[in-house]
Amino acid sequence: MSKAEPITDTVYTRAPFWNDVPDAKWMDWRWQMSHRLNSVDELAQVINLTESERKALSANDLFRVDITPYFASLMDPDDPNCPVRKQIVPTEAELVPFHSMMEDSLAEDKHSPVPGLVHRYPDRVLMLVTTQCASYCRYCTRSRIVGDPTQTFSRTDFDAQIEYIEQTPQIRDVLLSGGDPLTIAPKTVDMILARLRAIPHLEIIRIGSRVPVFLPMRVNQQFTDMLEKYHPLWLNIHVNHPKEIAPELAAACERLAKAGVPLGNQSVLLAGVNDSVRIQRKLAHELVKIRVRPYYLYQCDLVEGAGHLRTSVSKGIEIMEGLRGHTSGYAVPTYVVDAPGGGGKIPVAPNYVIAQSPGKVVLRNFEGFITTYSEPLDYDPHAILDQESRIEPRLEPGQEGIHGLLQGQRMAIEPAGFEDVHARGGAEHRLRSGDVKQKWQPLGVGSIESKPAQLTEPEE
Ligand SMILES: *Cc1c(COP(=O)(O)O)cnc(C)c1O
Repeated sequence: MSKAEPITDTVYTRAPFWNDVPDAKWMDWRWQMSHRLNSVDELAQVINLTESERKALSANDLFRVDITPYFASLMDPDDPNCPVRKQIVPTEAELVPFHSMMEDSLAEDKHSPVPGLVHRYPDRVLMLVTTQCASYCRYCTRSRIVGDPTQTFSRTDFDAQIEYIEQTPQIRDVLLSGGDPLTIAPKTVDMILARLRAIPHLEIIRIGSRVPVFLPMRVNQQFTDMLEKYHPLWLNIHVNHPKEIAPELAAACERLAKAGVPLGNQSVLLAGVNDSVRIQRKLAHELVKIRVRPYYLYQCDLVEGAGHLRTSVSKGIEIMEGLRGHTSGYAVPTYVVDAPGGGGKIPVAPNYVIAQSPGKVVLRNFEGFITTYSEPLDYDPHAILDQESRIEPRLEPGQEGIHGLLQGQRMAIEPAGFEDVHARGGAEHRLRSGDVKQKWQPLGVGSIESKPAQLTEPEE
């Protein structure tokens, strides 16, 4: 798409198979939803299916397939390696299990205080409002629940989710996800947003949705007018390849941006789809042109069906090396590995710090230029203490992590069972006092929040 593409409701993207559909129908999101493709016969009318795609589409227990006619029109009918096609049309490779594959690789179920709510970070929650999507990504991280029409959330579940948020004042940010929250009835989205906005401690509401990409006609003026009532409201879309940035998506983003919704993009690093610096750079550039800021680039999760779409982590680091410095900072996402087992998102980046000594840090830039930053020798981190003491501490401590170590709140973080393995009794006969714990209190070195712990008086 070029820079000055007019933003209208004109049809730009439509495969020849649907040429006879009137424009008004084509641009009606309900028509798109009820004419989605999901079988060999339907898909064969639009693309030339390979043997592998046919076999996968006929397999039992296949993760749900559904593709909107609009998004299907972006596929290359003759190229099985088309980056759009690979994201939504299954192949036989999807049926092959792989080493370390998991059903719930992010351990979300364990972090659910009520059905559909995932509370894993200190101040924000993920609220799954539906299990349905406009189309189904083959590498879906939540394929264990997504797409199953018998397993979705009810009004009672919403009530329980909202009640938990109301009663948990440390939650200042709610992220609506699913499934895709924009596939549910617009009235229901309105109702959920209104109820969330009524919660005084809730500062921001976010929506994670691929509807602008799969079904841009759903993001009409009426819908963005409704969203505008609930600011501050942020929205992340999910685009993986520049080919997905059709004028229809640009128009949807324009409507969202005009409604004052800051837009971000979360993409997944996928083998054979976008695992190249040139494609990622192009993607970032096309996104910022439509006012969408690249937010996260995810390492593909260890989820069933996604084995063949995974890359190495080093590929992600190489891509980040090719972005930072080479293009606008606004166009650079954060590359993250969502920790298998439920550790949350872990940023992974090239190393820019080469060496350190007291007073000096040696850094390198994207070109390989190496420089020294001289640190102030009289820097006093305690000068901020008074101001800082006026900001309330966290309501639910316990996730202070490595930052807590730096603050002197504790000295170590031990893996489970560490105490038992190392309690071999030696402490008792080496030290005269039985009070071993007290001798090992952190001194609070570097602590700017707590007072340094008192040193115990030497025993007489
Ligand atoms: C990704 C995610 C969030 C939001 O994380 P941010 O880094 O704040 O965007 C919140 N909760 C869960 C469970 C998540 O997976």
